[in-house]
Amino acid sequence: MLKTFYRVGCDRCGVVFEVEEGELAGDAVRCPHCGALSTPKNAAPVEYVVLQDCEIRDWERIGMLSNAVQDLLLKALESGRAPKELLPIIAKLRDVGALICL
Ligand SMILES: [Zn+2]
Repeated sequence: MLKTFYRVGCDRCGVVFEVEEGELAGDAVRCPHCGALSTPKNAAPVEYVVLQDCEIRDWERIGMLSNAVQDLLLKALESGRAPKELLPIIAKLRDVGALICL
């Protein structure tokens, strides 16, 4: 569930994009913006929890979280991935059945 992405800055257009660990096998990755090949030599690892098909079942329980955490959680559910810091909260919500993930 925890996936590592690398943040890569394009050598040509400067766009910063993220590449999944497995896609970094070669020594160059293609920029999604301009198509130039970049060498991710300065790539910084970013870890994400990948949330697939997650659904909130207990909004009351979610409502007990702080607004900032709720915000992060909803954004994470929308985008399908959560920052690593959310992992303990997600685990807890899953334990109590407030969040169902397939
Ligand atoms: Zn580019």
